[in-house]
Amino acid sequence: MQPMAVRSPAVDDAGEVGDQRKHDPNEERPEAQSGLMLPQDSHVHSEWSWDAPGGSMERTCARAVAIGLPAIAFTEHADYTTWTILDTGPEADDDLTALATPQGQFTPPELDVDGYLECLQRCRDRFPDLTIKSGVELGEPHWHDAAVAALLGTGRFELALGSLHCLSAGQQLVGVSKLYSERPPADVVREYLAEIPRLIEASDAFSVLAHIDYPLRDWPAEAGQFHVDMFQEEFRHALRVLARSGRALEINTEGPLLPHVVRWWREEGGMAVTFGSDAHEPGTLARQFHDAAAMAEACGFRPSSSPCDPWPRC
Ligand SMILES: [Zn+2]
Ligand SMILES: [Zn+2]
Repeated sequence: MQPMAVRSPAVDDAGEVGDQRKHDPNEERPEAQSGLMLPQDSHVHSEWSWDAPGGSMERTCARAVAIGLPAIAFTEHADYTTWTILDTGPEADDDLTALATPQGQFTPPELDVDGYLECLQRCRDRFPDLTIKSGVELGEPHWHDAAVAALLGTGRFELALGSLHCLSAGQQLVGVSKLYSERPPADVVREYLAEIPRLIEASDAFSVLAHIDYPLRDWPAEAGQFHVDMFQEEFRHALRVLARSGRALEINTEGPLLPHVVRWWREEGGMAVTFGSDAHEPGTLARQFHDAAAMAEACGFRPSSSPCDPWPRC
């Protein structure tokens, strides 16, 4: 899901995240100019995701054609977790508060699968040269076996991402941004990475783990630079479990790129990576993809013969 307030940290070669982006994620670098075939954007939201009011499947497809992106998977949110929202402070979100119960409990609206698939077909008809895959981003699928099985049992999705957006805090489930207001920042990252293996081992509903670096999006500025090396052991453990399960790791380009994590992924036996912008509006489709593709190659992965497929290890 979209974090309530997106910070934009950048990462330098030492794996440290500061306050300045090195690259403009919206920078348009058409494929025609670079000569590089971009990989599929395997993590895109449209107006069919509950947290993407600025989304538009049709305009996103038009943008894909304009920038030379050959393939998209629209992975709309399927979130079954009810969580306690942050209702005060600068990171509180008025839209969520309006939808929550008076006790601050929020349950995301359900995905309209029929409406989504009809829209997908209209876009396929309108953009015949663009490969458009159906997909879903499953929030905490390990907590919602039955609902997830019912959704996927319809057989109407070509790609399922597994995501962790919420963690438990006592009797409550909360988003990562709220947890930062209650715990030392390093503890939040460690709790997040400790839950990832549980997500993987308790759910086989997804083929790609999305945004393993999700907590970085809300890393508090007052906590100083984020040093990815501080969490090497925890990242490696989660990556090892993912590798053993035979699934792919997503390089999510919403935040700073983390070559350390991609290298650790390969060293722990990871077989493939995918690329996902996590765009919630057309303008951020395939953001940082040229840099992400170059990073993946430098870390020991190579383009597959089809842009739609994950990149295998060299
Ligand atoms: Zn997500
Ligand atoms: Zn997403």
